Amino acid sequence: MGNLMTAPYPETWLKILPEGLYCVPGGFFIDPTRAVERAVVTHAHSDHARPGHRAVLASRPTLALMEARMGEGAWQTSQALGWGETIRLGEVSVWLEPAGHVLGSAQVAMEYQGSRAVVSGDYKRTADPTCDPFVPVTCDVFVTEATFALPVFRHPKPADEIAKLLASVALFPERTHLVGCYALGKTQRVIALLRAAGWDGPIYLHGALLPMCAVYESLGIALGDLRPATVAAKAELAGAIVLAPPDAIADRWARRLADPVVCVASGWMRVRQRAKSRGVELPLVISDHADWDELNATIDEVAAPEVWVTHGREEALIHAAGTRGIRGRALRLLGYGDEDEVA
Ligand SMILES: [Zn+2]
Ligand SMILES: [Zn+2]
Repeated sequence: MGNLMTAPYPETWLKILPEGLYCVPGGFFIDPTRAVERAVVTHAHSDHARPGHRAVLASRPTLALMEARMGEGAWQTSQALGWGETIRLGEVSVWLEPAGHVLGSAQVAMEYQGSRAVVSGDYKRTADPTCDPFVPVTCDVFVTEATFALPVFRHPKPADEIAKLLASVALFPERTHLVGCYALGKTQRVIALLRAAGWDGPIYLHGALLPMCAVYESLGIALGDLRPATVAAKAELAGAIVLAPPDAIADRWARRLADPVVCVASGWMRVRQRAKSRGVELPLVISDHADWDELNATIDEVAAPEVWVTHGREEALIHAAGTRGIRGRALRLLGYGDEDEVA
């Protein structure tokens, strides 16, 4: 790391190309948005993991989740890396460290001629029983997302949000609680949080959420009694908790449910207007992204003199880093968005 007198400046070996972030001496892209020869993939969300690459390097859970989502089109060849296991790609040493975002989510650490860059993908710092926690890696340039990079975003404790849900279930025992959560990561986290809060009865799932839960379970994340909501009788769903993709909560599918209390689990539920416009009766502020404090604390912890921001609210984050003497650069990468935001 970091002899700034001799180590190459990161901008000379990490480039922004139309396909995404490219490591020149390593000959690979990180989370390219188009099919490429060689991709290192941080995690299996659809904006980071695209189909059709020739070779994919990722964590083992990420490969399993990608394969379940994409089937045969996922790649031609793949290689799994364990946490901290270093390999050589071209002239670059590459290893993965957990990012704490969803199961398998990784930061990509790269070292080239004494210059170290870390691409964190999407990440969070709050404990999550469904994935390994974020490991800070000191570096010369830290590449970060900025999804919730505004001081207004301070995520509450997830256990408190789940307590609100269970209080509402107790208050309205005849109604179905319908919780919108995206399929990969949020769903399994909400289930795990419910289990941790003592809800050990069945949890009903929209069909679109079942495949990712099956992969989580096959990788050792126990989720308890899950049942397909589609085959359950209406009476059975009174007083039940049903999880569905956010875009299903307002459509015909939800009409089968007993007078549903519509909930959405998302960092965006911090924005009251957004909850209201989507007809959400019970917003649950549960995010898989770092909030304002976590972003800034992480930037300080990795002690990089320079931070590159991939996407999100980059101005506020770059400004805040600047006041602490850290250089910021907005990459304005296109094609990335939160799966929450898509809905
Ligand atoms: Zn993601
Ligand atoms: Zn993302």
